[in-house]
Amino acid sequence: MVYVPHKVCNILYCLFMSNWREQANCRGLTGLMYSSEHRKARRVCMNCRVEKECLASSIQEENIDFPIYGVRAGMTAAERFRYRRRIME
Ligand code: SF4
Repeated sequence: MVYVPHKVCNILYCLFMSNWREQANCRGLTGLMYSSEHRKARRVCMNCRVEKECLASSIQEENIDFPIYGVRAGMTAAERFRYRRRIME
């Protein structure tokens, strides 16, 4: 068994976790995803290969210190807020 220091694991984890964004349907469409055109933005999320990673990331990132807005993982900010509250109960 190979010992991998904790710090190296964290770096590898960050690299892996950031890589999913390259496969996102919304790549280059930040303006739309964070606009008030939710219907259009949701369409972008349809069949996105990295929706699970995106949702996990939004749950991890969005909190009181991080403004919650825009469409992520096919959900509006209000929907993600309710989703987060439901899974945290
Ligand atoms: S699911 Fe997430 S990564 Fe995929 S298009 Fe929607 S916002 Fe972008």
